[in-house]
Amino acid sequence: MMPAAGSAPPQTAAGAVGWVDAHLHPQDYPAGTDVDQVLRQARSAGVGGFVCNGTEEPDWAAIERLARADSSVVPFFGIHPWFVAGAADSVLARLEAQLQRLPAGVGEIGLDQHVEPLDRQRQEELFSAQLALAERLGRPATVHCVRAWGWLLEVLQRRPAGCGVFLLHAYGGAPELIPQLARLGAYFSFSGSVLNPAYGRARRALPQVPAERLLLETDAPNMLPPAAYHHRDALPAAAAGHNHPANLPAIAAGIAALRQCSPAALQAQVAANTRAFLGPLYPPAWNLP
Ligand SMILES: [Zn+2]
Repeated sequence: MMPAAGSAPPQTAAGAVGWVDAHLHPQDYPAGTDVDQVLRQARSAGVGGFVCNGTEEPDWAAIERLARADSSVVPFFGIHPWFVAGAADSVLARLEAQLQRLPAGVGEIGLDQHVEPLDRQRQEELFSAQLALAERLGRPATVHCVRAWGWLLEVLQRRPAGCGVFLLHAYGGAPELIPQLARLGAYFSFSGSVLNPAYGRARRALPQVPAERLLLETDAPNMLPPAAYHHRDALPAAAAGHNHPANLPAIAAGIAALRQCSPAALQAQVAANTRAFLGPLYPPAWNLP
């Protein structure tokens, strides 16, 4: 079944979809938010694709619903390190079934040493198991890493068959780690947080990312960027402290300035990188059953 004409991403003369938001959580807006309108406003602002991440089993259904209703949504399903404590081993079989039901990536998964109480063993077990699942099914993975860079490298380097393709979302690691992580298969995405002068390490890392591994994200409704990067349609969300995918083009222009390239060149590069990262998931499935 083809999607309704109105649900396809806007095509430019060159056939591109504009900007792609490589990481967001539209299911996390407060109850009552019109998420369809959020995505519509972002499309009008020039964002043609949305990589929407589930973080725990209870929100997978919302991501699946969005993907089935809106062909510009690329769904990802996973168990985030914040939610591993309540997850039984049987969740892995249900995650695999979820990934078989529709074309989807694995995420958001990862390691986070800020979680309290910290159960390193459980975090690592579920992270490794989800990475292995992504590899076995040939799906890209999206990784969250907070205060756990040495640990992440250890886990990735221990994988005998490599790590597949993975995205380090809202990259916050040291610039010096980038070559090593890139060799392991990493893509790196940056949100509008990098436009805040207080985030020195991320600002130093941004220019060091190889052009062919760079992606952009909002992490909406999280990581509200500085006010200069709020799109007019996103102002009500910003007033409530929430980020909005319509902010992405302004964020991208700010990131282009930090990378000393033109927004147009960045857009073409990021579009190519998105295709490489998402592989068979991109463009999003036009004919979901
Ligand atoms: Zn996230």
